Amino acid sequence: GGTIGILGGGQLGRMLSIAAAQLGYRTAIYCPDPLSPAFQMCDRYWQAPYESRAALAEFADAVDLISFEFENVPALSLDFLKARVPIRPGIASLATTQDRLFEKDFLSVLDIPVAPYHDVASAAALHDAAQTLGYPVIAKTRRLGYDGKGQVRLEKGDNAQDAWDSLASELVIAESVIPFDREISVLLARGLDGNIASWPPVENDHSKGILRTSRVPATISDSVADQALSYAHAIAEALDFVGVLAVEMFVTDKTGEVLVNEVAPRVHNSGHWTLDGAVTSQFEQHIRAICGLPLGDSRALGRIRMENLIGKDITHWRDILGDPLAHFHHYGKAVAKPGRKMGHVTWVDPD
Ligand code: ATP
Ligand code: MG
Ligand code: MG
Repeated sequence: GGTIGILGGGQLGRMLSIAAAQLGYRTAIYCPDPLSPAFQMCDRYWQAPYESRAALAEFADAVDLISFEFENVPALSLDFLKARVPIRPGIASLATTQDRLFEKDFLSVLDIPVAPYHDVASAAALHDAAQTLGYPVIAKTRRLGYDGKGQVRLEKGDNAQDAWDSLASELVIAESVIPFDREISVLLARGLDGNIASWPPVENDHSKGILRTSRVPATISDSVADQALSYAHAIAEALDFVGVLAVEMFVTDKTGEVLVNEVAPRVHNSGHWTLDGAVTSQFEQHIRAICGLPLGDSRALGRIRMENLIGKDITHWRDILGDPLAHFHHYGKAVAKPGRKMGHVTWVDPD
């Protein structure tokens, strides 16, 4: 037993709380948003800004261990918490992955291929970077982006000043657009003892920067799968990671080339299929890892398809439940805003 504190109150925190409860732990959620879906599933919650020292101190006193489902907690707040209670994974993992420039520099040091990139600090620098990299490029804010937010694509002839202004940030990277054939992700868990269990690579389809569908097995060769798994292992080792880690990658079929797009130091949307389609789910595995318990088996239970329910998709819940083979997950969010992840469905076709 004991109480696990989780920073962030979205659906990931909600599903972590459910998994923690199953293993006999209590959870406390910390999130600024009063409508956090995780608040409904935990034992206690703090609804307060990430900068509030008073609330953070109370939260730290109430928990035995802190983890997170949201990696953009301010560094000063993490330092404040770290002095009071263990944080897993460690804050170095967050510092590296919170910032796309630090993340890409870190991957480059490990000799892991990434899209060619430039740090840009002005509209003029963005223009120069696009000239050097060759069009088209994608400019991304270094911090705080998700679901394709904080990104703009720049074609030849486009005005760099307009693109720069639309990002409304001084911290930006520009990267080459990669003509990949498919996107995959590798999720793994690394325990306190350094043991690693990886799920099979997942194939992901995005639309408008948002994940729509995940499939297992991915349609990739064994050598591409091995390469992808070895990159994810190297990242986990280099970060001395504890918990579940997700690595998004681009694959070019003809050459078998694998590039790492980004790293999430937490459970991830492309791992939701594991709730119904793997021996151990990513949420249970994360709790096992951070609590120093043995890891569970990460094999898939068949061929899997996971569909996100985005915005109004959720209004079809009755039809979905009409399919007796559909595993339906509702996140309990009140308002179905466009682009908002409201739930997901998984189908498992046993081998
Ligand atoms: P997430 O919600 O996964 O955290 P994000 O907002 O951090 O997403 P990225 O993963 O960097 O953004 O980009 C979103 C999607 O945009 C990618 O999954 C991919 O489909 C596309 N994309 C991003 N960068 C590139 C690139 N360099 N070349 C081609 N496509 C790209
Ligand atoms: Mg991201
Ligand atoms: Mg991404």
